[in-house]
Order: sequence, then structure tokens, then C-alpha cells
Amino acid sequence: MEKKHHYKEEKTFVMIKPDGVQRSLVGDIVHRFENVGLKLVAIKMLLPTQDEVEKHYTVNPEWKRNVGEKSIEGYRKNGVTPPSEDPEEVGNIVLGYLSDYLASGPVVAMVWQGGHAVHLVRKLIGSTEPLSSDVGTIRGDYVMDSYEMADGDGRAVRNLIHASGSYEEARAEIAHWFSENEIIRYHIINEKILYDVAIDGVLE
Ligand code: GDP
Ligand code: MG
Repeated sequence: MEKKHHYKEEKTFVMIKPDGVQRSLVGDIVHRFENVGLKLVAIKMLLPTQDEVEKHYTVNPEWKRNVGEKSIEGYRKNGVTPPSEDPEEVGNIVLGYLSDYLASGPVVAMVWQGGHAVHLVRKLIGSTEPLSSDVGTIRGDYVMDSYEMADGDGRAVRNLIHASGSYEEARAEIAHWFSENEIIRYHIINEKILYDVAIDGVLE
């Protein structure tokens, strides 16, 4: 993991997907990240185009193969023959589902900053398939869906939210969805308690 700044500078990209907006969960989801101590440094509502969604998922050149492999494994686990044995091909199918899903309505794109932001946000959102996401995570608590239901119906798994999977992915995704001047540099008071070496100025 490349690190040029203090760890409190780490940023991650988060998108509340169209189902999250439709379910009126924007406030609850934002609250989770505020609660843990992360700082919101960019936010906007937008209607992604299918082309933007494709670019978003292919900023990581490995993604298509990885998701294809994971998906084939999912089909097998459910006793279903995958649509192809080639992970790239299955990755393309998932990407097609995702373009339809994310371009179906408004989404909320955000950048969150703070110590271990990438890992922390992934922990809070939970694993990809809501059926197996841990209780207490956003995907585990607020929605139910499975590979079995989604693949059976020929659509993407609806799991409310996207978050960058690695530091490199975060950098590329932030640059894809936001311009430099949309990311606000500012201090919040919390940061003093979270990161300063000495806690002073508390007592009168
Ligand atoms: P994430 O990082 O947890 O969002 O998961 P991935 O990057 O692997 O996949 C991106 C998104 O594609 C997921 O959030 C799901 O919406 C969808 N998805 C992933 N794998 C599958 C699959 O095997 N089948 C279907 N139908 N959708 C999938
Ligand atoms: Mg991912």
C-alpha cells in the first residue's frame, strides 16, 4: 500500500447505490461513517451513465477476472452451471448487470477520510452478498439478497452501497468521480481527539 501522507489523510470512495437512495437510507448510511470518526470531504448526488459505471469497475484491470472467478464459484456452490467457464466472460456478464443497476436512478457519491479509511469502510459495509454479510454491517442489517436470487433473475446483487476495495482502487475511483476542487480540505474538531498525540486544552 502506497502511503505518502499521515494515515489520517487516507481517503476512500463510497457510493450509495440506487436501491440505497430508493430505500431512504442515505441518512442512516452517512451516520455510520460519521459515528466511527471518519470525515466527509466530498458528496454529490448524480445519475451515472452506463459508460461511467463500466469505467468505474474497470479502473482496476483485475476486477473483471476476479469477479468472474468469484461468481463461477457462487454458481457452483448453489449447484448451478455457470454461464461460462471463462472468468472474463462471466465478469462481463456481471458488468452488464451492474451498468443497468447503477444507471437506474440517482446515487450518492462520497469521499470519506481518516485513519484506515479504506479498510474501515469495507468492514462497516460488510461482504458483497447480503445473505452472508455479518449482522451489524450495512449490507447485513439493511437488505437481503443473494447470488442465487440475483443470478437466477439475471441482475446484479442489490447490496445498497459500493466502497473501494483497496487504497489503489480508492485513488482511481475518487479521480473517476470527483475533480480535485470538489474535495474539500478542512478540519473537524473530532480529529484533535482522534489523532493528536497529546490531549490538552480539555480541562479549564
Ligand atoms: P464489492 O466490492 O463488495 O461491491 O463486490 P465486487 O467488486 O466483487 O462486485 C461489484 C458488485 O457486483 C457487487 O457489489 C454486486 O452488486 C455485483 N456482483 C458481484 N458479484 C456478483 C455475482 O456473482 N452475481 C451477481 N448477480 N452480481 C454480482
Ligand atoms: Mg469491489
